[in-house]
Amino acid sequence: MSTTVQPPADQPAPLTDRHIVPAVVDGQTVYLECPTWCTIDHVRDSQKFLVDVWHSGAFADLEAPRRNGTPSLLAYARLGLDSFSEDDDMRRPFIFVEDGSSGEDSYMDAEHAEQFADNLVAFARNIRAMASAMRGVTA
Ligand SMILES: [Zn+2]
Repeated sequence: MSTTVQPPADQPAPLTDRHIVPAVVDGQTVYLECPTWCTIDHVRDSQKFLVDVWHSGAFADLEAPRRNGTPSLLAYARLGLDSFSEDDDMRRPFIFVEDGSSGEDSYMDAEHAEQFADNLVAFARNIRAMASAMRGVTA
């Protein structure tokens, strides 16, 4: 017989992949847990206060090509975690999505991100249908 121990519901979800890294806080080197997906150099990106230390994964960009000009950044997303935040929700991993211009942002749990990805797939399907219609091709 085995026993599974679950963290209390009001505790942040445990990180499954993390390592101990150095960080500079208020000029002092400290060591903290950092998710393996974090791309921030916590020594180079020093902070005055521990509460300001944040973790970020690589950015995923959604760009739209334009007829005349450089591509437009419509949105970007990244994994994030603010381990020392005073906000309980920020101490759990999240996916942050922000539009490329107005600063509208969303913090998502995994199920929200999956729903968002489904929305993007449906959006892409519609864009492809429009492109086909524009070329006079029937799908
Ligand atoms: Zn980190």
